[in-house]
Amino acid sequence: MGDIVCKFGGSSLADEDQIRKAIEIVEARSERRFVVPSAPGKRDDGDTKVTDLLYLCHELARQKVDIAEPFSYLKRRFLGITEALGLDLDMKGLLDQLRVDIEQGASTDYVASRGEHLNGRILAAALRAKFVEPAEVIRFGRSGTLDPDSYDVIARKLSGSGRFVIPGFYGAEADGEIKTFSRGGSDITGAVVARAISADVYENWTDVSGMLMADPRVVSDAKPVTEITYREIRELAYMGASVFHDEAMFPVREAGIPVNIRNTNCPDDAGTMILPERDMSKQALAGVAGRANFSMLFIEKALMNQTKGFGRRVLDVIAEQDISYEHSPSGIDTMSVIISDDELGGKGPELVSKIEQVLQPDRVTLLPGLALIATVGEGMSHRIGIAARLFAALADAEVNVRVIDQGASEINIIVGVEAADFERAVQAIYRAFEDES
Ligand code: ASP
Repeated sequence: MGDIVCKFGGSSLADEDQIRKAIEIVEARSERRFVVPSAPGKRDDGDTKVTDLLYLCHELARQKVDIAEPFSYLKRRFLGITEALGLDLDMKGLLDQLRVDIEQGASTDYVASRGEHLNGRILAAALRAKFVEPAEVIRFGRSGTLDPDSYDVIARKLSGSGRFVIPGFYGAEADGEIKTFSRGGSDITGAVVARAISADVYENWTDVSGMLMADPRVVSDAKPVTEITYREIRELAYMGASVFHDEAMFPVREAGIPVNIRNTNCPDDAGTMILPERDMSKQALAGVAGRANFSMLFIEKALMNQTKGFGRRVLDVIAEQDISYEHSPSGIDTMSVIISDDELGGKGPELVSKIEQVLQPDRVTLLPGLALIATVGEGMSHRIGIAARLFAALADAEVNVRVIDQGASEINIIVGVEAADFERAVQAIYRAFEDES
Protein backbone atom coordinates (compact mmCIF):
# COMPACT_ATOMS: atom_id res chain seq x y z
CA MET A 1 0.00 0.00 0.00
CA GLY A 2 1.26 3.46 -0.90
CA ASP A 3 1.01 6.73 0.94
CA ILE A 4 -2.16 8.03 2.52
CA VAL A 5 -3.14 11.66 3.02
CA CYS A 6 -5.29 12.18 6.13
CA LYS A 7 -7.29 15.36 6.40
CA PHE A 8 -9.00 15.98 9.73
CA GLY A 9 -11.96 18.34 9.88
CA GLY A 10 -12.64 20.88 12.63
CA SER A 11 -14.85 18.63 14.74
CA SER A 12 -12.17 15.91 14.61
CA LEU A 13 -9.68 18.33 16.18
CA ALA A 14 -11.97 20.43 18.36
CA ASP A 15 -10.19 19.69 21.66
CA GLU A 16 -7.44 17.56 23.19
CA ASP A 17 -9.60 14.43 23.33
CA GLN A 18 -10.46 14.67 19.66
CA ILE A 19 -6.84 15.42 18.76
CA ARG A 20 -5.75 12.32 20.69
CA LYS A 21 -8.14 10.25 18.56
CA ALA A 22 -6.68 11.76 15.40
CA ILE A 23 -3.14 11.00 16.56
CA GLU A 24 -4.10 7.42 17.28
CA ILE A 25 -5.61 7.08 13.82
CA VAL A 26 -2.50 8.46 12.12
CA GLU A 27 -0.13 6.32 14.17
CA ALA A 28 -2.15 3.16 13.52
CA ARG A 29 -0.71 2.96 9.99
CA SER A 30 2.75 3.83 8.76
CA GLU A 31 1.31 4.77 5.34
CA ARG A 32 -0.52 7.70 6.94
CA ARG A 33 2.40 10.05 6.39
CA PHE A 34 0.71 13.27 5.27
CA VAL A 35 -1.62 15.00 7.69
CA VAL A 36 -3.75 18.04 6.81
CA PRO A 37 -5.54 19.62 9.78
CA SER A 38 -8.43 22.09 9.91
CA ALA A 39 -8.69 24.62 12.72
CA PRO A 40 -10.43 23.42 15.91
CA GLY A 41 -14.16 23.36 15.21
CA LYS A 42 -17.21 23.23 17.45
CA ARG A 43 -17.02 21.04 20.56
CA ASP A 44 -20.82 21.06 20.83
CA ASP A 45 -23.78 22.78 19.22
CA GLY A 46 -23.45 25.96 21.26
CA ASP A 47 -19.72 26.33 20.58
CA THR A 48 -17.92 28.62 18.09
CA LYS A 49 -15.37 27.50 15.51
CA VAL A 50 -11.89 28.91 15.95
CA THR A 51 -12.03 30.24 12.38
CA ASP A 52 -15.18 32.21 13.23
CA LEU A 53 -13.51 33.62 16.35
CA LEU A 54 -10.58 34.72 14.19
CA TYR A 55 -12.86 36.44 11.67
CA LEU A 56 -14.58 38.15 14.59
CA CYS A 57 -11.30 39.36 16.12
CA HIS A 58 -10.21 40.68 12.74
CA GLU A 59 -13.47 42.58 12.24
CA LEU A 60 -13.45 44.07 15.73
CA ALA A 61 -9.83 45.18 15.35
CA ARG A 62 -10.71 46.77 12.01
CA GLN A 63 -13.41 48.77 13.78
CA LYS A 64 -10.92 49.66 16.50
CA VAL A 65 -12.88 47.70 19.12
CA ASP A 66 -10.98 45.88 21.86
CA ILE A 67 -10.50 42.19 20.97
CA ALA A 68 -9.59 41.10 24.51
CA GLU A 69 -12.69 38.99 25.06
CA PRO A 70 -12.88 36.91 21.85
CA PHE A 71 -9.10 36.61 21.83
CA SER A 72 -9.15 35.19 25.36
CA TYR A 73 -11.43 32.35 24.14
CA LEU A 74 -8.98 31.59 21.36
CA LYS A 75 -6.07 31.69 23.73
CA ARG A 76 -7.74 29.38 26.20
CA ARG A 77 -8.52 26.84 23.50
CA PHE A 78 -5.03 26.64 22.05
CA LEU A 79 -3.22 26.83 25.41
CA GLY A 80 -5.58 24.20 26.84
CA ILE A 81 -4.83 21.78 24.02
CA THR A 82 -1.07 22.40 24.11
CA GLU A 83 -0.90 21.88 27.88
CA ALA A 84 -3.18 18.83 27.93
CA LEU A 85 -1.04 17.14 25.29
CA GLY A 86 2.17 18.14 27.10
CA LEU A 87 3.72 19.59 23.96
CA ASP A 88 7.04 21.35 23.78
CA LEU A 89 5.71 24.35 21.91
CA ASP A 90 5.77 28.05 22.75
CA MET A 91 2.03 28.45 22.11
CA LYS A 92 1.83 31.49 24.37
CA GLY A 93 4.49 33.26 22.33
CA LEU A 94 2.73 32.41 19.06
CA LEU A 95 -0.60 33.68 20.40
CA ASP A 96 0.89 36.91 21.77
CA GLN A 97 2.37 37.57 18.35
CA LEU A 98 -0.96 36.81 16.68
CA ARG A 99 -2.72 39.33 18.88
CA VAL A 100 -0.18 41.99 17.93
CA ASP A 101 -0.62 41.09 14.24
CA ILE A 102 -4.41 41.35 14.46
CA GLU A 103 -4.24 44.67 16.28
CA GLN A 104 -1.77 46.02 13.78
CA GLY A 105 -4.11 45.35 10.88
CA ALA A 106 -3.07 41.97 9.45
CA SER A 107 -5.22 40.95 6.46
CA THR A 108 -8.49 39.00 6.82
CA ASP A 109 -7.07 35.90 5.13
CA TYR A 110 -3.92 35.96 7.23
CA VAL A 111 -5.91 36.12 10.46
CA ALA A 112 -8.42 33.45 9.32
CA SER A 113 -5.60 31.09 8.36
CA ARG A 114 -4.06 31.09 11.83
CA GLY A 115 -6.49 28.47 13.15
CA GLU A 116 -5.09 25.91 10.73
CA HIS A 117 -1.53 27.20 11.20
CA LEU A 118 -1.57 26.82 14.98
CA ASN A 119 -3.37 23.49 14.87
CA GLY A 120 -0.74 22.34 12.37
CA ARG A 121 2.00 23.29 14.83
CA ILE A 122 0.22 21.30 17.53
CA LEU A 123 -0.15 18.19 15.39
CA ALA A 124 3.39 18.35 14.07
CA ALA A 125 4.71 18.50 17.64
CA ALA A 126 2.39 15.72 18.82
CA LEU A 127 3.25 13.43 15.89
CA ARG A 128 6.93 14.45 15.82
CA ALA A 129 6.34 15.22 12.16
CA LYS A 130 7.85 17.86 9.88
CA PHE A 131 5.76 21.03 9.72
CA VAL A 132 5.31 22.33 6.18
CA GLU A 133 4.25 25.95 5.77
CA PRO A 134 1.47 26.10 3.13
CA ALA A 135 2.43 29.65 2.16
CA GLU A 136 5.66 28.20 0.76
CA VAL A 137 4.08 25.49 -1.35
CA ILE A 138 0.44 26.28 -2.14
CA ARG A 139 0.49 29.15 -4.61
CA PHE A 140 -2.43 31.09 -5.97
CA GLY A 141 -2.25 32.49 -9.48
CA ARG A 142 -3.43 35.89 -10.66
CA SER A 143 -7.00 34.68 -11.19
CA GLY A 144 -7.21 33.65 -7.53
CA THR A 145 -7.15 29.94 -8.34
CA LEU A 146 -4.48 27.40 -7.50
CA ASP A 147 -1.30 27.74 -9.57
CA PRO A 148 -0.72 24.25 -11.00
CA ASP A 149 3.04 24.62 -10.38
CA SER A 150 2.13 24.08 -6.72
CA TYR A 151 1.91 20.33 -7.32
CA ASP A 152 5.62 20.04 -8.14
CA VAL A 153 6.61 22.36 -5.34
CA ILE A 154 4.58 20.33 -2.83
CA ALA A 155 5.94 17.03 -4.14
CA ARG A 156 9.50 18.27 -3.71
CA LYS A 157 8.88 19.64 -0.24
CA LEU A 158 7.12 16.49 0.93
CA SER A 159 9.73 14.08 -0.34
CA GLY A 160 11.76 11.99 2.04
CA SER A 161 10.79 9.68 4.84
CA GLY A 162 8.75 10.35 7.95
CA ARG A 163 5.54 12.22 8.55
CA PHE A 164 4.56 15.67 7.38
CA VAL A 165 1.91 18.03 8.66
CA ILE A 166 0.64 20.69 6.27
CA PRO A 167 -2.14 22.95 7.57
CA GLY A 168 -5.29 23.16 5.49
CA PHE A 169 -7.28 26.09 4.12
CA TYR A 170 -4.55 28.44 2.91
CA GLY A 171 -1.55 29.18 0.75
CA ALA A 172 -0.06 32.40 -0.62
CA GLU A 173 -0.16 34.63 -3.66
CA ALA A 174 2.94 35.23 -5.76
CA ASP A 175 3.98 38.17 -3.56
CA GLY A 176 3.75 36.00 -0.43
CA GLU A 177 0.44 37.43 0.83
CA ILE A 178 -1.54 34.72 2.64
CA LYS A 179 -4.71 33.69 0.84
CA THR A 180 -7.37 31.21 1.96
CA PHE A 181 -9.58 28.92 -0.06
CA SER A 182 -13.34 29.31 0.44
CA ARG A 183 -14.87 28.21 3.76
CA GLY A 184 -14.38 24.52 4.49
CA GLY A 185 -11.33 24.69 2.22
CA SER A 186 -9.07 22.32 4.15
CA ASP A 187 -10.73 19.61 2.07
CA ILE A 188 -9.16 21.30 -0.96
CA THR A 189 -5.69 21.37 0.60
CA GLY A 190 -6.01 17.65 1.32
CA ALA A 191 -6.99 16.95 -2.27
CA VAL A 192 -4.13 19.08 -3.63
CA VAL A 193 -1.60 17.32 -1.40
CA ALA A 194 -3.03 13.90 -2.34
CA ARG A 195 -2.60 14.68 -5.99
CA ALA A 196 0.87 16.21 -5.55
CA ILE A 197 2.26 13.12 -3.84
CA SER A 198 0.15 10.67 -5.92
CA ALA A 199 -1.46 9.24 -2.82
CA ASP A 200 -3.07 5.83 -2.88
CA VAL A 201 -6.00 7.15 -0.87
CA TYR A 202 -7.13 10.51 0.41
CA GLU A 203 -8.72 9.89 3.81
CA ASN A 204 -11.08 12.63 4.84
CA TRP A 205 -11.80 12.25 8.56
CA THR A 206 -14.95 13.90 9.83
CA ASP A 207 -17.74 13.29 12.36
CA VAL A 208 -19.97 10.99 10.30
CA SER A 209 -19.26 7.53 8.88
CA GLY A 210 -19.57 8.72 5.30
CA MET A 211 -22.66 9.55 3.32
CA LEU A 212 -26.13 8.11 3.58
CA MET A 213 -28.28 7.22 0.60
CA ALA A 214 -30.88 9.78 1.66
CA ASP A 215 -31.18 12.59 4.17
CA PRO A 216 -31.81 10.84 7.53
CA ARG A 217 -34.26 13.59 8.50
CA VAL A 218 -36.44 12.38 5.63
CA VAL A 219 -35.59 8.66 5.55
CA SER A 220 -34.73 7.71 9.12
CA ASP A 221 -33.18 4.33 8.26
CA ALA A 222 -31.27 5.45 5.15
CA LYS A 223 -28.41 3.04 4.41
CA PRO A 224 -24.78 4.16 4.27
CA VAL A 225 -23.20 4.66 0.87
CA THR A 226 -20.22 2.33 0.72
CA GLU A 227 -19.04 3.25 -2.78
CA ILE A 228 -19.91 6.19 -5.00
CA THR A 229 -18.28 7.64 -8.11
CA TYR A 230 -16.96 11.19 -8.51
CA ARG A 231 -19.72 11.84 -11.04
CA GLU A 232 -22.47 10.60 -8.77
CA ILE A 233 -21.28 12.62 -5.81
CA ARG A 234 -21.18 15.72 -7.96
CA GLU A 235 -24.86 15.25 -8.87
CA LEU A 236 -25.84 14.65 -5.25
CA ALA A 237 -23.77 17.59 -4.04
CA TYR A 238 -25.73 19.84 -6.37
CA MET A 239 -28.82 18.84 -4.39
CA GLY A 240 -27.04 19.72 -1.16
CA ALA A 241 -26.16 16.18 -0.07
CA SER A 242 -22.45 16.37 0.46
CA VAL A 243 -19.90 15.80 3.16
CA PHE A 244 -17.02 16.95 0.97
CA HIS A 245 -16.15 20.41 -0.44
CA ASP A 246 -17.23 20.71 -4.08
CA GLU A 247 -13.96 22.16 -5.28
CA ALA A 248 -11.95 19.43 -3.56
CA MET A 249 -13.22 16.87 -6.01
CA PHE A 250 -11.34 18.20 -9.02
CA PRO A 251 -7.67 17.55 -8.09
CA VAL A 252 -8.36 13.99 -6.96
CA ARG A 253 -10.75 13.25 -9.78
CA GLU A 254 -8.21 14.27 -12.41
CA ALA A 255 -5.65 11.96 -10.84
CA GLY A 256 -8.12 9.13 -10.12
CA ILE A 257 -7.29 9.09 -6.40
CA PRO A 258 -10.00 7.49 -4.22
CA VAL A 259 -11.39 9.58 -1.37
CA ASN A 260 -12.45 7.79 1.79
CA ILE A 261 -14.83 9.73 4.05
CA ARG A 262 -14.35 8.37 7.58
CA ASN A 263 -15.44 9.00 11.12
CA THR A 264 -12.82 10.04 13.71
CA ASN A 265 -15.21 8.91 16.45
CA CYS A 266 -15.77 5.45 14.91
CA PRO A 267 -12.46 4.73 13.18
CA ASP A 268 -13.39 1.11 12.50
CA ASP A 269 -16.29 2.08 10.23
CA ALA A 270 -15.31 1.74 6.58
CA GLY A 271 -17.02 5.01 5.62
CA THR A 272 -17.75 6.01 2.04
CA MET A 273 -15.31 5.43 -0.81
CA ILE A 274 -15.48 7.98 -3.65
CA LEU A 275 -14.01 6.27 -6.71
CA PRO A 276 -13.53 6.80 -10.45
CA GLU A 277 -15.69 3.70 -11.11
CA ARG A 278 -17.73 1.39 -8.93
CA ASP A 279 -19.33 -1.99 -9.24
CA MET A 280 -22.87 -1.13 -10.35
CA SER A 281 -24.15 -4.65 -9.85
CA LYS A 282 -24.07 -4.24 -6.07
CA GLN A 283 -26.26 -1.18 -5.89
CA ALA A 284 -27.73 0.74 -8.81
CA LEU A 285 -28.83 3.68 -6.70
CA ALA A 286 -26.10 5.91 -5.27
CA GLY A 287 -28.50 8.19 -3.48
CA VAL A 288 -31.61 10.28 -3.64
CA ALA A 289 -31.54 13.93 -2.65
CA GLY A 290 -33.56 17.01 -3.29
CA ARG A 291 -34.15 20.64 -2.64
CA ALA A 292 -37.25 22.79 -2.38
CA ASN A 293 -37.76 26.42 -3.41
CA PHE A 294 -37.74 26.35 -7.17
CA SER A 295 -40.15 27.96 -9.64
CA MET A 296 -40.97 26.84 -13.12
CA LEU A 297 -41.45 29.20 -16.01
CA PHE A 298 -43.80 27.44 -18.40
CA ILE A 299 -44.14 28.69 -21.98
CA GLU A 300 -46.45 27.37 -24.68
CA LYS A 301 -46.56 28.40 -28.32
CA ALA A 302 -47.99 26.56 -31.30
CA LEU A 303 -45.28 25.32 -33.67
CA MET A 304 -42.52 26.21 -31.19
CA ASN A 305 -40.50 23.32 -32.56
CA GLN A 306 -40.37 24.97 -35.99
CA THR A 307 -39.61 28.47 -34.75
CA LYS A 308 -35.89 29.00 -35.12
CA GLY A 309 -34.14 30.59 -32.17
CA PHE A 310 -37.18 30.46 -29.85
CA GLY A 311 -35.40 28.69 -27.01
CA ARG A 312 -32.34 30.86 -27.35
CA ARG A 313 -34.43 34.00 -27.11
CA VAL A 314 -36.20 32.72 -23.98
CA LEU A 315 -32.84 32.07 -22.35
CA ASP A 316 -31.57 35.46 -23.52
CA VAL A 317 -34.47 37.23 -21.84
CA ILE A 318 -33.72 35.32 -18.64
CA ALA A 319 -30.04 36.26 -18.82
CA GLU A 320 -30.91 39.90 -19.51
CA GLN A 321 -32.83 39.93 -16.23
CA ASP A 322 -29.58 38.77 -14.62
CA ILE A 323 -31.10 35.43 -13.66
CA SER A 324 -29.38 32.06 -14.05
CA TYR A 325 -31.46 28.94 -14.59
CA GLU A 326 -31.11 25.32 -13.49
CA HIS A 327 -32.75 23.08 -16.08
CA SER A 328 -34.84 23.49 -19.14
CA PRO A 329 -36.95 20.47 -20.08
CA SER A 330 -38.85 21.08 -23.29
CA GLY A 331 -41.71 19.58 -25.27
CA ILE A 332 -42.88 20.07 -28.86
CA ASP A 333 -44.79 23.28 -28.34
CA THR A 334 -43.77 23.88 -24.74
CA MET A 335 -40.70 24.84 -22.88
CA SER A 336 -40.10 24.97 -19.13
CA VAL A 337 -37.29 26.72 -17.37
CA ILE A 338 -36.61 25.89 -13.75
CA ILE A 339 -35.17 28.68 -11.65
CA SER A 340 -34.26 28.67 -7.97
CA ASP A 341 -36.30 31.11 -5.91
CA ASP A 342 -33.14 32.70 -4.50
CA GLU A 343 -32.01 33.52 -7.99
CA LEU A 344 -35.43 34.75 -9.06
CA GLY A 345 -35.75 37.14 -6.11
CA GLY A 346 -38.61 39.56 -6.79
CA LYS A 347 -38.02 39.54 -10.55
CA GLY A 348 -40.76 37.01 -11.45
CA PRO A 349 -43.51 39.37 -12.73
CA GLU A 350 -41.00 41.42 -14.75
CA LEU A 351 -39.62 38.24 -16.31
CA VAL A 352 -43.07 37.03 -17.35
CA SER A 353 -43.97 40.36 -18.95
CA LYS A 354 -40.64 40.51 -20.83
CA ILE A 355 -41.26 36.98 -22.18
CA GLU A 356 -44.75 38.06 -23.30
CA GLN A 357 -43.38 41.13 -25.03
CA VAL A 358 -40.42 39.54 -26.75
CA LEU A 359 -41.77 36.09 -27.66
CA GLN A 360 -45.52 36.53 -27.79
CA PRO A 361 -46.25 33.00 -26.61
CA ASP A 362 -49.76 31.53 -26.42
CA ARG A 363 -49.29 31.08 -22.71
CA VAL A 364 -46.66 31.90 -20.13
CA THR A 365 -46.90 31.25 -16.40
CA LEU A 366 -44.55 31.15 -13.50
CA LEU A 367 -45.40 28.27 -11.16
CA PRO A 368 -43.90 28.55 -7.68
CA GLY A 369 -43.50 25.92 -4.96
CA LEU A 370 -41.56 23.29 -6.83
CA ALA A 371 -39.17 20.83 -5.19
CA LEU A 372 -36.59 18.98 -7.28
CA ILE A 373 -35.51 15.44 -6.45
CA ALA A 374 -32.48 13.77 -8.02
CA THR A 375 -32.29 9.99 -8.15
CA VAL A 376 -28.65 9.32 -8.84
CA GLY A 377 -26.87 6.18 -9.93
CA GLU A 378 -24.44 5.70 -12.81
CA GLY A 379 -25.95 3.46 -15.39
CA MET A 380 -29.43 3.63 -13.85
CA SER A 381 -31.02 4.99 -16.94
CA HIS A 382 -29.26 2.36 -19.07
CA ARG A 383 -31.26 -0.26 -17.30
CA ILE A 384 -34.68 -1.18 -18.45
CA GLY A 385 -37.43 -0.64 -15.95
CA ILE A 386 -35.68 1.84 -13.69
CA ALA A 387 -37.77 4.83 -14.75
CA ALA A 388 -40.92 2.71 -14.62
CA ARG A 389 -40.16 1.69 -11.07
CA LEU A 390 -39.45 5.26 -10.05
CA PHE A 391 -42.68 6.65 -11.48
CA ALA A 392 -44.76 3.72 -10.23
CA ALA A 393 -43.42 4.39 -6.73
CA LEU A 394 -44.37 8.05 -7.00
CA ALA A 395 -47.82 7.15 -8.31
CA ASP A 396 -48.37 4.68 -5.44
CA ALA A 397 -47.44 7.42 -3.01
CA GLU A 398 -49.93 9.70 -4.78
CA VAL A 399 -47.27 12.21 -5.71
CA ASN A 400 -48.08 14.32 -8.73
CA VAL A 401 -44.97 14.70 -10.90
CA ARG A 402 -44.89 18.20 -12.37
CA VAL A 403 -41.74 17.91 -14.43
CA ILE A 404 -39.21 15.27 -15.46
CA ASP A 405 -35.65 15.85 -16.58
CA GLN A 406 -33.43 12.93 -17.28
CA GLY A 407 -30.83 14.85 -19.25
CA ALA A 408 -28.18 13.07 -21.24
CA SER A 409 -25.79 12.36 -18.40
CA GLU A 410 -27.58 9.05 -17.83
CA ILE A 411 -26.81 9.07 -14.16
CA ASN A 412 -29.53 11.25 -12.79
CA ILE A 413 -33.30 11.36 -13.14
CA ILE A 414 -34.67 14.63 -11.81
CA VAL A 415 -38.34 15.02 -11.00
CA GLY A 416 -40.09 18.18 -9.90
CA VAL A 417 -42.93 17.79 -7.39
CA GLU A 418 -45.08 20.09 -5.25
CA ALA A 419 -43.08 21.23 -2.21
CA ALA A 420 -45.76 19.65 0.04
CA ASP A 421 -45.09 16.22 -1.55
CA PHE A 422 -41.32 16.44 -1.21
CA GLU A 423 -40.70 14.14 1.75
CA ARG A 424 -43.26 11.57 0.61
CA ALA A 425 -41.66 11.49 -2.82
CA VAL A 426 -38.11 11.02 -1.49
CA GLN A 427 -39.30 8.23 0.80
CA ALA A 428 -41.16 6.50 -2.03
CA ILE A 429 -38.15 6.63 -4.37
CA TYR A 430 -35.78 5.44 -1.68
CA ARG A 431 -38.00 2.47 -0.81
CA ALA A 432 -38.31 1.54 -4.47
CA PHE A 433 -34.54 1.21 -4.84
CA GLU A 434 -33.14 0.43 -1.41
CA ASP A 435 -32.71 -3.26 -2.07
CA GLU A 436 -31.75 -2.87 -5.70
CA SER A 437 -28.93 -5.12 -6.73
N1 ASP B 1 -11.37 26.34 9.18
C1 ASP B 1 -11.90 26.69 7.89
C2 ASP B 1 -13.38 26.93 7.97
O1 ASP B 1 -13.94 26.89 9.05
C3 ASP B 1 -11.54 25.69 6.83
C4 ASP B 1 -11.92 24.26 7.13
O2 ASP B 1 -12.29 23.91 8.24
O3 ASP B 1 -11.86 23.45 6.21
O4 ASP B 1 -13.99 27.20 6.99
